[in-house]
Amino acid sequence: MRRTNWPRLLGLAVLCLWAATALVLAAPARKVTSFQSQVVNENGQSFLRIEIGMNGPIKDYQVKGDGILHPNRLTIDVDRAEKGDVRAEIPLDRQFAKTLRFQDAGKKLRIMVGMRVPANEQNYRVYTLEKDRRNPHRLIIELYGEGGRRGRVAGLKGRTIVIDPGHGGTDTGAVGVGGLREKDITLEVSRKVKAILAHSGVKVVMTREDDRDVYGPTATDAQELQARVDYGSFTPNVDVFVSIHCNAFTSASSNGTATYYYPKTWLDALLAQNLQDAMVEHGDRRDRGIHEARFYVCRNSMMPAALVELAFITNYVEGYLLADEDFQNEMAQGIAEGLANYFAASGT
Ligand SMILES: [Zn+2]
Repeated sequence: MRRTNWPRLLGLAVLCLWAATALVLAAPARKVTSFQSQVVNENGQSFLRIEIGMNGPIKDYQVKGDGILHPNRLTIDVDRAEKGDVRAEIPLDRQFAKTLRFQDAGKKLRIMVGMRVPANEQNYRVYTLEKDRRNPHRLIIELYGEGGRRGRVAGLKGRTIVIDPGHGGTDTGAVGVGGLREKDITLEVSRKVKAILAHSGVKVVMTREDDRDVYGPTATDAQELQARVDYGSFTPNVDVFVSIHCNAFTSASSNGTATYYYPKTWLDALLAQNLQDAMVEHGDRRDRGIHEARFYVCRNSMMPAALVELAFITNYVEGYLLADEDFQNEMAQGIAEGLANYFAASGT
């Protein structure tokens, strides 16, 4: 009968454990296996999406940007990873970035991107995606251009907001340069506002989603406007009501952005001012300020309400801008940010 040599077996076990640990510590678990970049357009905004594929899950990484020496450099350190066979320097779409560089730095893989704009959190997004049927584990870097990341505004989550695209259906609203109709512009911009708000966690109620009369084609003005007000009245917990319009005047030289309110509470002017400021900041048109007015929708809405006049549809420059998607996006973003600023300022 053979006797088991316990001390020897124990020694062997310790040796195996040591070897296994050393192997795990020494092996860089991940290598870059694929790289692709493409310009993506989402919600009317384009950005550069870079996908770096790796042969293992990407668990720990650090993102650094906005440095003093290289403000446009975005640096991402991926723990326990290495470059592999990928090129050290890859040129990118020049609209968003110059190059991306890979560098092995100790046990980390360092990724450096030379951005067109300062590498602050407004201008990029970094996240990981798990392996799926078609793709490997991926590190995703999204780079935005001038003006930063749009489409989501902080400080709006949980709000309920009524957006009223002015006019519609039989009511074209003002007709401007080149036959441009107010009802079409207000609907386009309102849709963009809705997308941003919905993305920001807001419950959005639209008084119309297409080209129609809200009450009906034969309605009186009061019936039509009351039908819009009713959306606010019959939706629970509405925070604010915003009606979107374009201005018009007999003189083609009139221009600029303005906001109207009815002072039924102190909040109405505060709402108007915040919308006005953010629209002027984004649209960059002349600031015509905020004004008291007896507009039906502002006066009869039970919650704070404002009516914005984006710009003059009868002005050559502004008519052109109102039909331009970039300008529409800017104004929509301004309205969304103005709403967030209003909630912060009002403390409501
Ligand atoms: Zn109007």
